[in-house]
Amino acid sequence: MENFDRLAIHTMTTKPWDLPTAVEKYSRAGVRGVGLWRQWLEGRSLTESCALLDDHGIKAVSLVRSGFFPGLTPEERQTALDDNRRALDEAAAVGAPQVVLVCGAKPELSLAENRCQITEGIAACIDHASSVGVKLSIEPLHPMYADCRSAVNTIGQCNDMIDQLGDAWVGIAADVYHIWWDPHLEQEIRRAGKRIIGFHVCDWLTPTQDFLNDRGLMGEGCIDIRGIRAMVEQAGFSSSIEVEIFSNRHWARDQDEFLSDIITAYKSQT
Ligand code: ZN
Repeated sequence: MENFDRLAIHTMTTKPWDLPTAVEKYSRAGVRGVGLWRQWLEGRSLTESCALLDDHGIKAVSLVRSGFFPGLTPEERQTALDDNRRALDEAAAVGAPQVVLVCGAKPELSLAENRCQITEGIAACIDHASSVGVKLSIEPLHPMYADCRSAVNTIGQCNDMIDQLGDAWVGIAADVYHIWWDPHLEQEIRRAGKRIIGFHVCDWLTPTQDFLNDRGLMGEGCIDIRGIRAMVEQAGFSSSIEVEIFSNRHWARDQDEFLSDIITAYKSQT
């Protein structure tokens, strides 16, 4: 129980629950942090969402997600920048210290061009991040998503980008699902140090049935979650452990039982 206060759950993990239901259930179970997906903010004002969290003693540890910087036209790229600045405003309004960036990719563009547009896009948001006091947290995605979700695929790439961008307002969200396979993981986490501002957990199932929505609960798969946690903590990370599971299988279950299993797995497997 000693680290239970560090548990945060992404609203997407319990997808069938709307925000009022999720915060009530999390709060009753003793969960104090939430990874707030932007869809869960729809249908009420930001002030109302913020009050909902406060009333249940729950803190937004991250706002998920924006990014998607590459575009085929200048207009598309501008739309992405506008949306990223809006996400920063939303995060500030609900008290989330960081916005998680799924950086995007267009299959029509080369990887090099995608990566260039991503770096330029993040650079163009730093002033706004600074003005609202919210960090931009780059989440490298597993390379199976390099075609259309993110051309940023390793912690090493994030480090290279942040070497250029500066780390005052840009950090890294390390999600075990995306980084567990990387042979340079330990050295790049060490190099990242305190740039790591988010840590997401779930597990990799064998065989994976669906490359988006078949993540496992911690302990169901082959990821060395404790080993990776030890690496990020040795590098200086001490914030929330965010449970982020997209799973058709778990979403189809009784969500109260799933929540109870999440807490058990958090305590025994992370
Ligand atoms: Zn994640």
